[in-house]
This record gives sequence, structure tokens and C-alpha cells, in this order.
Amino acid sequence: MIVSTFGFAGSPGSPSFVRIELRAERGVLFRISGIGNQAAKAASTRIRSALIACGHHWPGKAITVNIAPADLSRSSTAFDLPIALAILASCGIIPSASLKHIAAAGEMGLDGALRPWATSMFGSRETFSFELSDVGKIKILLAPTKLESWDSLLPLESFTHLSEIIAYLKSPDSTNHKRDLPDSFLTFTGEASPPISEVTFDNIIGEPTAKRMAVIAAAGRHDVLMQGAPGTGKTELAKCIHALLPDLSDKEYQKCKSIHSAAGLVLKSNENRPPWLSPHPSTNMQGLIGSWSTLKGRGAIPGAWSLADNGVLFLDEFAEFSRRTLEACRSPLESRNISLGRAAGSTSLPASALFIAAMNPCPCGRGNGTTGSCDCQKGEMRKYRRKISGPIADRIAIHLELGHEMHEHKGDISEVLAWDDAKNRVARVRKWMCHNHGKKKRMNGPALTKESEQLLNSCRSALKISHRGINHIHNVAMTAALVDNSSAIQVSHISEAGASRLFDRQSWMTTC
Ligand SMILES: [Zn+2]
Repeated sequence: MIVSTFGFAGSPGSPSFVRIELRAERGVLFRISGIGNQAAKAASTRIRSALIACGHHWPGKAITVNIAPADLSRSSTAFDLPIALAILASCGIIPSASLKHIAAAGEMGLDGALRPWATSMFGSRETFSFELSDVGKIKILLAPTKLESWDSLLPLESFTHLSEIIAYLKSPDSTNHKRDLPDSFLTFTGEASPPISEVTFDNIIGEPTAKRMAVIAAAGRHDVLMQGAPGTGKTELAKCIHALLPDLSDKEYQKCKSIHSAAGLVLKSNENRPPWLSPHPSTNMQGLIGSWSTLKGRGAIPGAWSLADNGVLFLDEFAEFSRRTLEACRSPLESRNISLGRAAGSTSLPASALFIAAMNPCPCGRGNGTTGSCDCQKGEMRKYRRKISGPIADRIAIHLELGHEMHEHKGDISEVLAWDDAKNRVARVRKWMCHNHGKKKRMNGPALTKESEQLLNSCRSALKISHRGINHIHNVAMTAALVDNSSAIQVSHISEAGASRLFDRQSWMTTC
């Protein structure tokens, strides 16, 4: 007896349908054509255990599975579900006719739970491959819960357990096939966002300039490099920037969920909060920017940069990351995109996270050479700071030094720092930026006054700041003007943006 159904999987950017054919005959062997015994054995173990968990038996027959088209890799665990359904149909547990118009995908746990698998779902309908001739018969897609994420070209039904799908295929019109499963049933491996209610500027003593720049960074999505001794509030400030970001739109949130599912993770954030990723300094380059899976056909696995898309990527102890990892940040900082290449083709991963890096002033972390407790040599400190190469620092818009301002200033700045007011200002500027991105920003945004233009030009000539650095100063000053609701970029805006180019100062890099 031959049963056939459809599955879907693929690599990032190019998901595709496959046809699954299953023949059951006398014997005991389980084979999947084209994949090794080990992988077939692993799949049969998962499927066998899942069937038993649902109260069914593994058929006492030899089973041969064919996955077409033949040139596609068959090792994706996403094929667990369609293979299990074909086995159930071959035993007469579900009607085989019900499988003719569905495409299913999902990795199965030993308890029958369905999980997202480690390849991509973040292709759009345009990139879906239609290699199969009879793909037009597919009317509905079945996938694990939490994968109801992408701009689907077909209706998508989501399930958390194999038994739900069996009930659904037996009577598709009935609506009560879903079981109430506790949340813990799903593997939450994504990183949680910091609880937004606990984060405010009140947690940081003093530092009015840093707080002001945090508002500007969140409003303009400018990347930040912070330097300061431990305990000066670097992590708190990063959390503040995250908390100031407005909620994601439904479309952005769905994109974020699907990037997580491509990495085999489930996004732990709720209420549409932007993601927050803070990888440990031991994270390697692949963990940060993504990698190709070693399993053939499983495609690219997004790294922290992509997982934090539209949210915040916070690298604490920035100078402790390996040199190679640090240098790999250059490309996403510049192009907001990660291109992964290999012989069989290349793919690109999104990287539009707001990047925040924090580092100590010296290797011991106790001071900046001026306090008695720090005994780092000048040479050691120079070497440590130089780990953050010019090209990396140059690509980061705002450089901050914490630990110098222990008290709030009196005057205009502190007015901006009321938390709710700061949030409203960020939301207002973000909204404006959404309607005025790219070239429109300079055209419709606040213009330079004559004096501020002169100051910007003198930054270029006197401080020898790179063209990119000048661009950052102009952009940051414009965001500052928008935050202040000012119709023009004033001298004060240029000077605060210019003051935040710490790493551009030659003196800072060569003296301690
Ligand atoms: Zn030191």
C-alpha cells in the first residue's frame, strides 16, 4: 500500500514543498530513501515513541519512505510529522484521503509534542518553491504552534501535539480537537526581555548626559558603545534603552517569531516587546552572526544579531569577545544585513538590531588609571582599548563614558529625563522616522542652522573625524533636535553629538 502526502521545509529565504510517499509491506525494516541509517533510525525512534504516546502502535511492517524532489536534502527533522501521518494513514487510523490536500511540517518529541525545527520559515510567499507539479492540490498547512508566523500563502493550522492533528484529520470540521496544554510543554529557549515595569532611569545615580543620550539612541536607533568601571550602570542603561523602545508592530513581531523558529527557538517575549539578546563574551562568531548548519539541507541558523532583529543586541564586556568575533560585527553594523556564503550558495540574514556594547576602562576593570585600586600599566590599557578597532568604533554612532557625573544637572536636561516623558518622546520620534526613512529623513527633518553647520565643519577639520563619523554626528544631532521637538538642529545638538565621539579622539586612544 502506498500513501502520499506533502511536507515543507527548506533553507532560509527559500522554503519548499516536498512530496512524501510511504510504502508499507511485509518485513521489519524502516528506510528513508537517500538518508543514512543513523538519521533514519533517529527519525523512526521519535515517530515510534510519539505514536505510542498517542495510544497507537508502530505497524509490524517494513516501511519505505521516499521524499521528492530527489535533489532536496531529506535530513530535516521537519519531515517527522508528515512521515508519522503517512504511517497512521497506512494503518487506517486516519483516512488517507485526508492527507492528499495538506502539507505538514514539525519535529516530534518522544511524547508526541510538536516543535519548531531548526531551519527557516522566514521566506515570504514569493520565495516559496513550487517545484512539485501537483503542489496546487495543497489546501492547508499544518505546523507546530508558535510557528503561525509568516505571511502564509495558504491557511495555516497550528497544533502542539500529534494527537490533536489525528483528531483534526479524523473530523476537520470539529473545532474542539485542541488540547489544553500547559505553557511549559513548549521548549522556551529564547532569551526573555527584561521586565519593562522594573526598568527606569531611577535605577542609575546621576549620569544625566548618559541618560539623555539613551533617549536619543532609542529614538533614532543609534548604536551605542559605553565605557565605564563596573557598577557605573552600563547594563542598567542598556536595559533603559530597550525599555524606551516602543512595542513592535504585529508584522515586526511575527518576523521576530519566525527568525526564532528558524533557529529552533521559541520567542519568550510577549506583548509584542522588542527582543533583548545579551550573549556571553565566550560566544563565538557563529553564535553572533549565524552559521550554516552542519546537517546537510538544514540551511542557515540565525545568530544573536538576527535574533535581536528590531530589538536590542547588548554585548557586555565587549573587549573580552575574541578579535575575530568583534571584527565580524563590522558588516552588520554597516549594512544591517548578514551575508553567509558557502560553495552551495549564499543567504542573507536580517541584522537591524540596535547594537549596544559595554566595556571596562582597563583590563582589571577597577579604574581608568587615576584611581588607586587600579594597577594596570599604561601599555596594557592601550592594548585593551585598541582591541576595539577604529573601524568598529567608527561604525558606532554614540560613544559614552560613564562614572563621571554623579549628580543630576539643574536645568533643561533633567526635564527630559522624567521616564514617562522620555518614553513619549521616543515614541513620537520613532513614529516620525517610520514615515521619513532614507533620504526623506534629511529632506523633511530639522535642518542645520548656519552656526551649527559651521560647528559641524569645524569638527571635520579640527578633530579630523572621518566622513562616517561626521555623518553620525549629523544624524545623532538631528535625532536630538527631534527629541526636543526643535524645528532646526541647534549648536547645542551638534556639540552633544560631537562630544559622544569618544573613540574618535586621538588623545583618548593614545593616553590614559
Ligand atoms: Zn585597571
